[in-house]
Amino acid sequence: MSKTRQFKTEVQQLLQLMIHSLYSNRDIFLRELVANAADALDKARFESLTSPDTAREWKIKIVPDKEAKTLVIADNGIGMSEDEVVENIGTIAKSGTKAFLKMLEEKGENSADMPELIGQFGVGFYSAFMVADKVELVTCRAGEEAVKWSSDGQSNYTLSKAEKTEPGTEITLYLKSDAEIYLESWKISEIVHRYSDFIAYPIVTPEKKIDEDKNETVSERTLNSQKAIWLRKPSEITDEEYKSFYAHLSNFGGTEYLKAIHMTAEGASEFKALLFLPKQAPFNLLMPDIQKKGLQLYIKRMFITDECKELLPDYLRFVCGVVDSSDLPLNVSREILQQNPLLGKIQTAVTGKILSEMKKLLENDRENYEKFFVEFGRIIKEGLHTDRANAEKIKDIVLYESMNSGAGKFITLKEYVDAMPESQTEIFYISGEKREAVASSPALEYFRKKGWDVLFMTDPIDEWVMQSMFQYMKKNFKSVTKGDFTDTEQDDAIKAAGEKYAKTVEFLKKELSGQVSEVKFSCRLADSPCCLITDGAALSPHMERLFRAMNQDIPVSKRILELNCEHPLIAAFESKLAAGADEASLGKYAKVLLDQALLLEGSPVADPAEFARSIQELLTEALNK
Ligand code: ADP
Repeated sequence: MSKTRQFKTEVQQLLQLMIHSLYSNRDIFLRELVANAADALDKARFESLTSPDTAREWKIKIVPDKEAKTLVIADNGIGMSEDEVVENIGTIAKSGTKAFLKMLEEKGENSADMPELIGQFGVGFYSAFMVADKVELVTCRAGEEAVKWSSDGQSNYTLSKAEKTEPGTEITLYLKSDAEIYLESWKISEIVHRYSDFIAYPIVTPEKKIDEDKNETVSERTLNSQKAIWLRKPSEITDEEYKSFYAHLSNFGGTEYLKAIHMTAEGASEFKALLFLPKQAPFNLLMPDIQKKGLQLYIKRMFITDECKELLPDYLRFVCGVVDSSDLPLNVSREILQQNPLLGKIQTAVTGKILSEMKKLLENDRENYEKFFVEFGRIIKEGLHTDRANAEKIKDIVLYESMNSGAGKFITLKEYVDAMPESQTEIFYISGEKREAVASSPALEYFRKKGWDVLFMTDPIDEWVMQSMFQYMKKNFKSVTKGDFTDTEQDDAIKAAGEKYAKTVEFLKKELSGQVSEVKFSCRLADSPCCLITDGAALSPHMERLFRAMNQDIPVSKRILELNCEHPLIAAFESKLAAGADEASLGKYAKVLLDQALLLEGSPVADPAEFARSIQELLTEALNK
């Protein structure tokens, strides 16, 4: 008896796309189905470690039939129960589908890199509908009844009982008339060679031979070399091989990576690894469920798991690759394996290697390193806070824009320190939302005059990181908008100003008492009348906003208003007050002074309407004079 079921709406949308628009590289359907078959074999082989009687000759078969115009992809892997078929193939309860559709909407359906993105979202099976107008899947899970799933990729699929006793899955594609090229054995062999050569199981196809007596015999031809690419010499691996292996591993999609890193570790723990630094972050890099996949773990060439999170620290979660250990025990469950201290040792070695390779890139290929850093820098910076053991190494490879660097140009901390004049003893930085906001801060005026550079910390994560970043090359970090700032050369002038403009200071303190905790003269300013400073221990306004954006209840901390003793506005205030001016109208000026300081640092003003009204009044007065 057969049952017909509706696809979920998202699946229907996805299928429509597969059928109608993803034509630029249809070959990848075979890569996806072979990859699924290889995964199924990995799972079955892993089970056979604990129940050796289930071990069999693991294999993937590709069988074209020119008369029936069908292509069969079969494996003797783990298979699926009926529930699993419904779960995996019928409904796609995965977050990936929605994200994929959303991205298609944004990028446009015919984007050239679309096929490469299919794998990224775990929707590979449906790519069969690019070449087939009907797909049948017969599958058997050990100990369960076999089941047949079939669909024309429209709105529903049918489930029925099937005759299959051996575990595994057999997928029959009824090829579209314009996809018959996939019946040609040269084409099949070309695709397998290009995308699936390293798959650890033989991928075979039947081959007819006519013997001396003109009898036809059918044998099997193996299409892939099955060589574990991470065990081969780098000089013998072609670009194409690296690329397809990267595509197979990466959960970011695409074949373009920045760097392949081979690693052979001997001694305390022996392993070989092949790691990739990706080129481009996926659009959903920061989405929590795609955050960390981990590396693939093999033990003595035996696949164990493709998501071994223990092998990488969080801040390197964008790295993908394979670790093949020779001293982890084979006969253990994944859960027990996760507690094995050897994994920690491997992580330490892998982390050190990745950091040193990034440093090499920075030194030898600055342009590409900068592009890479734009994509992944904010994740790497997490390590400054979380990986104390490697913090110094990470400090060597992080990049920042700076006041003197120009927009979009980066410097390293070392370059900053090397350029410091002798009179400068600290590393200065300013944090805020974006370059434009921090670049116009009055707090930079002093540094501009001195010619001292200031690092721009405009990643949301920077301020958090700065809480644990105290020094680099024995120089302290100091925020230009936080805490006291003194210049002995100006001490006398500051003291004198305090006396000369005592009325102004008193007046501003009184008028702005709700918003600022203190008013004083400062040597930070050159052109602006005033700026707002945060007390050394308090959160900066930028940090406060970030916390509030994360729904955390943060009290507003009062700021310190610093005045420029050389600005005519201060002198004007003082003489008005000395002449006994009306304090109510001067109070309005005080508020405008504070509001413009807030605007300059990128903070919102408390009451924009009032601010606008005051400006209008002041303009009217000025124009009427
Ligand atoms: P992905 O492989 O990225 O998870 P697919 O749409 O290609 O996404 O496959 C969905 C799921 O269906 C797989 O995760 C797997 O559980 C199951 N599946 C697909 N092909 C096979 C197969 N040949 N054998 C066993 N299970 C399979």
